[in-house]
Amino acid sequence: MTAFDVVVVGAGVTGLTVANRLHAAGLKVVVLEARDRVGGRLLTEDIEGVRLEVGGQWVSPDQAALLALIDELKLEMYSRYRAGDSIYIGRDGVRRTFAGEKFPVSDRTAAEVERLTKELDRLAAGMDPLEPWNHPDADELDRISFAAWLAEQTDDPEARDNVGLYVGPAMLTKPAHSFSALSAVLMAASAGGFSHLVDADFILDRRVVGGLQRVPLALADRLPPGTVHLDEAVTKVEWNEDGATVFTGRGSYHGRNVVMAVPPTLVSRVQYIPALPPVQAQMRQHISFGLVIKLHITYETPFWRDLGLSGTAFSPYSLVHEAYDNTNEDVEGETRGTLVGFVSDVKADSLLSLDADARRWKVLEALAAYYGEQALHPVHYYESPWVADEWTVGAFGTSFDIGSLTRYGRHLRSDVGPLSFASSDIAGLGFQHVDGAIRMGEAVAARIL
Ligand code: FAD
Repeated sequence: MTAFDVVVVGAGVTGLTVANRLHAAGLKVVVLEARDRVGGRLLTEDIEGVRLEVGGQWVSPDQAALLALIDELKLEMYSRYRAGDSIYIGRDGVRRTFAGEKFPVSDRTAAEVERLTKELDRLAAGMDPLEPWNHPDADELDRISFAAWLAEQTDDPEARDNVGLYVGPAMLTKPAHSFSALSAVLMAASAGGFSHLVDADFILDRRVVGGLQRVPLALADRLPPGTVHLDEAVTKVEWNEDGATVFTGRGSYHGRNVVMAVPPTLVSRVQYIPALPPVQAQMRQHISFGLVIKLHITYETPFWRDLGLSGTAFSPYSLVHEAYDNTNEDVEGETRGTLVGFVSDVKADSLLSLDADARRWKVLEALAAYYGEQALHPVHYYESPWVADEWTVGAFGTSFDIGSLTRYGRHLRSDVGPLSFASSDIAGLGFQHVDGAIRMGEAVAARIL
């Protein structure tokens, strides 16, 4: 058995941030990673000749911790392509183009969307995202689903569907009836307000040259050789008040502290001796991953640009509820155009029940409704496989079921003896985003130091 000051489990951005901060402070650290690579939910891969950001990719202006790290690592960024009109398909099934961030809906629906946006902004402004359970309306909001809350607020179905889209399919990637209104307000507060979530130009602002996985790759590079152990899934942790021993298939590692830098759902996959206190075990049974399929569809050219379109498309009524131009502007000589699209929650369930050819056809049909017949003829098609990946098992992140944020949330970041828990899923600001992973990693490192 090798002894360390701190054993970090998981080489995602959270774990690598912890390891970097502790190493810089002179501590002896090891990082144990189940996969054969670092980065967790960040993966930039060349797939059949197309470079794809399989996991997270966008950086928004509110992600202050991520922006500071990108700066520290001297990485460059570029803006998402957004020149031209966007597309919206409404409840009437009609495709309309529009400029700006407001969907082309009836005046009444637009007024209702604006009113709901203001109300969600007001609720979010009253929330410290690190302590949503202390919101003045926390109990009331956590007892009701976001869908039911929206139904109480407005009788306009298209306004409900649009406001629901920003938090449900687009963020928590669960149906709006399956998470609480409090979780919806947390999602908004964690991004600096609901108005940010509805603004694609804000939330999907920039990309890192070479892909966002360069952040964890650079963090791993800054650690001394041999610090990060790949292909070492942790299966058991034996702990007492003085420290813990972590077991993998290859060996055991002792640390005065152990940081479980894995999503909450995977914390419970490890055996703890003695078992974690009851509230810890109970709490994580009320947290689950959302489900979204990220689609990457590459064409010979970005043909939509010639049609005066930005590539941005939305519809709560389409299989692909949102899509964007995701062409690699940083790849020299790239003439192809890539669209990225998302199929979420119950629509993802039905898509996943089909075979590969049928799935591809359904997606292309949905894209053709946005961009026209040319969308039916890609040169490359790829579905990010996070749901079938045993070291994530879902996307984008995890969230509580109805009533559990107030019941258990305050225990999420509590240490248990020498064990700490961290991941973007339990962040306040930057919740479910890389920014939150960095913030959580830094907070745990500061606590240990
Ligand atoms: P993870 O990245 O999940 O890292 C945890 C690590 O722990 C993994 O490497 C895993 O293999 C390892 N692990 C798990 N169990 C064990 C074990 N028992 N033993 C050893 N190792 C273990 N965020 C953004 O900011 N912008 C975006 O545009 C964006 N888009 C996204 C799109 C997709 C498709 C997905 C999936 C996520 C997206 N995100 C985005 C979210 C972002 O990727 C995550 O919030 C962030 O990367 C999580 O980092 P983490 O270190 O907390 O967790």
